[in-house]
Formats: sequence, structure tokens, C-alpha cells
Amino acid sequence: MIEFRNVSKVYNNGTEALHNINLKVEKGEFVFIVGSSGAGKSTFLKLITCEERPNEGQVLIDGQDISHIRKGKIPYVRRKMGLVFQDFRLIDHMTVYDNVAFAMRVVGASPKAIKKRVPYILGLVGLQHKAKHYPTEMSGGERQRVGLARALVNNPSMIIADEPTGNIDPALSYEIVDLLSAINERGTTVLMVTHEHSLVKHFHKRIIQIHSGEIVADTAAISKEQQA
Ligand code: ADP
Ligand code: ADP
Repeated sequence: MIEFRNVSKVYNNGTEALHNINLKVEKGEFVFIVGSSGAGKSTFLKLITCEERPNEGQVLIDGQDISHIRKGKIPYVRRKMGLVFQDFRLIDHMTVYDNVAFAMRVVGASPKAIKKRVPYILGLVGLQHKAKHYPTEMSGGERQRVGLARALVNNPSMIIADEPTGNIDPALSYEIVDLLSAINERGTTVLMVTHEHSLVKHFHKRIIQIHSGEIVADTAAISKEQQA
């Protein structure tokens, strides 16, 4: 589903953010990306979302090389991805319902489809009773659940989350990762950048550790049987 082949990224100012990255993430995996600040984690995600292009190597999404993709084709690649941000990026003057519905309107969904899908997705993240609330009236954990609902509503095959729990109380961070895990168990691939050691330890997922632009560790997930 996601493959990096000898990928390097050098920014215009000469900073080499990633050096010769090789990796594969299969459909249905849940992967934590860890590493200190400046390690290259965001750059790694940006190469997947086509916000940046590699200087060398290839990035493949479902077998398609996106490293030289034409700008006009990028929206089609992005539709496979639900993006979740550390700072939520909700529209504060829109209700929870409309924040999620808007993501469907943008891709041309019919009013009928929106009316059916949005309540279902809000139910999935446990926010059906908050549909008419505004983001500014909600806790960080709730806002991020709206962010998750928005990311999911167009049924992406992967969720790309950059520090999604970075602005949330530690206790509520577990709820967000629990939700991501549940989504993952339904077949959606999840890539999540995090700084939180305790979360990574708790969830037993695959862990890719980046240091100075290189993958220095890639630890397989621990299955439920192995944990028991
Ligand atoms: P992380 O997400 O792990 O903190 P980044 O991918 O943001 O790391 O950054 C990796 C390196 O690339 C850092 O040295 C950072 O300063 C540099 N960098 C990131 N974005 C840019 C940019 N747009 N221009 C120049 N250098 C950048
Ligand atoms: P501790 O020193 O707290 O015992 P370890 O170094 O044993 O933690 O790492 C625990 C797990 O977290 C390992 O599987 C490791 O790959 C992962 N990990 C390593 N670096 C980080 C990081 N910067 N952030 C989150 N998890 C990390």
C-alpha cells in the first residue's frame, strides 16, 4: 500500500531531512512513527501526502509512483487518505455536524449521502449527541474526535495522523488511539506520528523509529496471542 524505495529528501536550504529510506507498509497495518524533534517524521508523512516530493527514489501508493505525479492528479491520491492534525484544524464557526459534512461536500457527495453518512460517522466516534455543538465549546479530546470523524467520512483506505494527541490530556490520548485502533481493525491502514512513549508502549503496534533522517529501528507489532 505504501512503499519507499531509496527515498531522500533535501530541502532547498540544503537540509537533508530524509536519507535513503526503504520501507513497506501493508494494507491494514497500524504503524507508530517515533523519533525526536527534527528527526524527519513530518517530512516522511509529507512525502506520502504529496505535500513534498523526494529528490531521489520513489514513493509508491497502491503501486502508483507519486514522486513525480502531476499537480492535477494529487487530489485523487489524497482521496485515499484521511488526515488528522495535532491542532485539529476544525472550522470554528461551523457545528460539529457541518465540519464533517463539509468534507463530503468538497468531494461532491449528494445531500442524501451526507445526511445518511454524517450521523453514522459521528456515532462511530461517540459524538452523535454533540452534532449541534461548536468546536470552541468542546474539550481537546472531543475536538480530535471531530477531526477523526472528518478524516473518516469519505471512507479513506488510510489515516495519516501527525501527533494527533499532542494537544490532548494524556488520559484522553488513550481514547483517541483506542478509536484509531478500532478503525484499523475494520481494515483502514493507520500511520501515526507521536512523541508519547507511554502510548507506544501500551498499544503494541509496529514502531518505526526515525533518527537524523534514517530509519534506525522497525519493530513488528506484538500480536494479541504474544501479549497474553
Ligand atoms: P520532525 O517531524 O521529526 O520534527 P521534520 O521532518 O519536520 O522533523 O524535519 C526534519 C529536518 O528537516 C529538520 O532539520 C527540519 O529543520 C528540516 N525541515 C523541515 N521542513 C523544512 C523546510 N520546509 N525547509 C527546510 N528545512 C526543513
Ligand atoms: P524506556 O527507556 O522508557 O524503557 P524503551 O527505550 O525501552 O523505553 O522504548 C520503549 C518502546 O518505545 C520501544 O519499543 C521503542 O522502540 C519505542 N520508542 C523509542 N523511541 C521512542 C520515541 N522517541 N517516542 C516513542 N516511542 C519510542
